[in-house]
Amino acid sequence: MRLTPLRQAMLAFLAAQRMPVSLEMIAQADGIRGQCDATTVYRTQALFKAADIVRQVGTPGKVSLFLLNVPGESGQFLVCRRCGCIKELALPGQTLESVRRAVVAQGFSPSGQDCEVYGVCPTCSAGSQSQAPSSKLLR
Ligand SMILES: [Zn+2]
Repeated sequence: MRLTPLRQAMLAFLAAQRMPVSLEMIAQADGIRGQCDATTVYRTQALFKAADIVRQVGTPGKVSLFLLNVPGESGQFLVCRRCGCIKELALPGQTLESVRRAVVAQGFSPSGQDCEVYGVCPTCSAGSQSQAPSSKLLR
């Protein structure tokens, strides 16, 4: 892959992020903003993904987010199915090691240990609970 100044700027931006970022955030980053259109940003991320340079984290029915793949570093995230927010999930090393052992015991060679847990965040969860009493009042 040819490393153009634009791709270099995208990699630099991604390298500085701890959390997955959207295509819009990448497009607005220094060295990228005003240098290319949204299609180029999308195509470049697709290229990075195909080359295993970035990992795509999907938020259901929402935008796709991208995160740089760092060898030896695994990223665990909680993804809300309702609002699409993402939180980092810190798992103890021994938990990750247990998962790795279970995977290897199946004769599987893991290439990485990324984990995304989908569910409902506390904010959305609280929102649906506060709606419940009002619907009861209508009965
Ligand atoms: Zn939510």
